[in-house]
Amino acid sequence: MNMLFGKLKRFWGKSIIYRVFIKKYKRYFIIGTLSLIAVDIVNIFPPLLIKRVIDILAKDVSLTNIAAISGLYILVSFFQGACRYLWRMNFIGTSFRCDYDLRMSFFGHIETLSQKFFQKYKTGDLMSRTTNDIGAVRMAVGPGLLIGLDAMFYFFVIPPIIIYLSPKLSLYTFLLMPLMPFIAYKVKAVIDKRFHDVQEQFSRISEKVQENASGIRIVKSFNMSHQEERILRSQCNDFMKKNLKLAIPQALIGPAFEYITYTGIVILLFMGGKMVVEGVITLGTLVAFQRYISMMVWPMTAVGWCLSLLQRGSASMKRIDEVMDERSAIVLKDNISQNFTPHGDIEFRDINFRYDSQKEWLLKGINLKITAGQRVAIVGPIGSGKSTLVNMIPRINPVNDQNIFIDGVNINTIDIKLLRKHIGFVPQDTFLFSEKIADNLLFGIETQDNRNNVQELARMVGVDAEIQELSGRYESYLGERGVNLSGGQKQRITIARALAINPTVIILDDCLSAVDARVEETIIKNILKKFQNKTLLVVTHRLPAVRDFDMIVVMKDGMIVERGTHEQLVKLNGLYTSLYTKEVLEERLGQERGQKLEA
Ligand code: ADP
Ligand code: MG
Repeated sequence: MNMLFGKLKRFWGKSIIYRVFIKKYKRYFIIGTLSLIAVDIVNIFPPLLIKRVIDILAKDVSLTNIAAISGLYILVSFFQGACRYLWRMNFIGTSFRCDYDLRMSFFGHIETLSQKFFQKYKTGDLMSRTTNDIGAVRMAVGPGLLIGLDAMFYFFVIPPIIIYLSPKLSLYTFLLMPLMPFIAYKVKAVIDKRFHDVQEQFSRISEKVQENASGIRIVKSFNMSHQEERILRSQCNDFMKKNLKLAIPQALIGPAFEYITYTGIVILLFMGGKMVVEGVITLGTLVAFQRYISMMVWPMTAVGWCLSLLQRGSASMKRIDEVMDERSAIVLKDNISQNFTPHGDIEFRDINFRYDSQKEWLLKGINLKITAGQRVAIVGPIGSGKSTLVNMIPRINPVNDQNIFIDGVNINTIDIKLLRKHIGFVPQDTFLFSEKIADNLLFGIETQDNRNNVQELARMVGVDAEIQELSGRYESYLGERGVNLSGGQKQRITIARALAINPTVIILDDCLSAVDARVEETIIKNILKKFQNKTLLVVTHRLPAVRDFDMIVVMKDGMIVERGTHEQLVKLNGLYTSLYTKEVLEERLGQERGQKLEA
């Protein structure tokens, strides 16, 4: 017995009704339930009143009696209306509060997760979880809970009343009743599975649409619109079919219950009619009896509906929990320092890194010391691990303790927000929000009064003139991923955005690949001038642009193979020299080609 109780308690603790609704909104739950019960209690009486009226009419007609009963009826209806308002506000209204809570904590959680998570879950899938699944949970804890409570009330209250009215007649009607829970149970299992299929398919469709919207240029340039349309059509077709398949059990369950109930009523009228003729029961009793049986139709149907809403809600909650249980690969410590104003010394100590513990090391034994204010370039062939390495400084990639130090402090012991506040990071792939240019530039700035400063930064990265030419200037909206800007313009805006926070350490990861070599050089020079005592790390394949840097680090296969100044490296006549020569040749060729085209 105790065990059963414990089990029930655990089940209750895990149920979405408790977790999402009651735990936080107990007050609303209680008010809602009380007003619901009040409405239901009031609902229970009219058949008894009608029975009295009919029985009175059958004996002697007393107008005062009927007037009193009618007056009561009107009063009661008003009371019911008020209570209905209350339960609606408390159940349905609160379900929207739950929806809000859930969505905010879901989104908040996603924001804390690291890259690894975003590689595992596709965007469309996450979108469907934040919209559809949270919606399904809301339906379960709002209408689902409400319907369930309502049905439960009738189940507990009506049977005793009809047994009281006529035990014999009740027996006939109850004979058919056990069929219902049985059907409900069977159908529920089918609904569960089909609903899951529908949700999965919806995720697939969202994913496809999302990918096509962001990759529209690729889709068009490869003439793949028709192909993509075909895929989407087949996906939507599947979605429709799966929904129709789900609709079958859902559509059947209601009518099946009604059919059973109405068969009961027919039997009742036949048997009851006989009993009235024989004088065993009064006509009023039969009428009241029939009314109560009709009242049972709703809870019978409601059970199936409620179960399916709860089931969907639980299935969706599982999908939400799946994400909520994900942990960031970046482990945050508790006892972190909240005070940190770095000068900008960076030290990489014995870094070995891989994304996947199954694979081989991507970074192998990286040791590198950079003093504050130094300008360091990281160069090397594609795939040599440059991005992986610089991604570690703002802890986009996880970092082991004793791996990276800023001003001699292990970066894992610094509050991650604080750390990132001091790092102006421009990742390799540009991303701009579909917002105004100004808002994109000010993305990392909390106060909105730096507009002049931002224009100055835009000028420094050579994009101010181009922004001024747009009709809306800094107020122009960018399309999805900034479709209305060129690659080079977007890259320069992302640089200005990173510089706008006035960072101590600036990291540019190959972020000028879309502008030509001379422009890259000018931009780097401008940054050097403006951010003189800041630490600057530039990853680039344009070696001439970083010729004058304090240190050039050459990476290959996850290792640092050469390091030094340009002169020192040229003397080595190794990888750097060959990369440099190649780049100079290519740039010259590019210029000549350009001149020819101009001529
Ligand atoms: P680089 O910037 O020098 O071109 P990267 O650091 O981007 O090189 O990549 C180094 C290697 O790590 C490549 O082989 C790449 O495939 C792999 N890699 C990069 N990012 C990831 C990731 N997020 N997950 C798994 N492997 C990755
Ligand atoms: Mg890279």
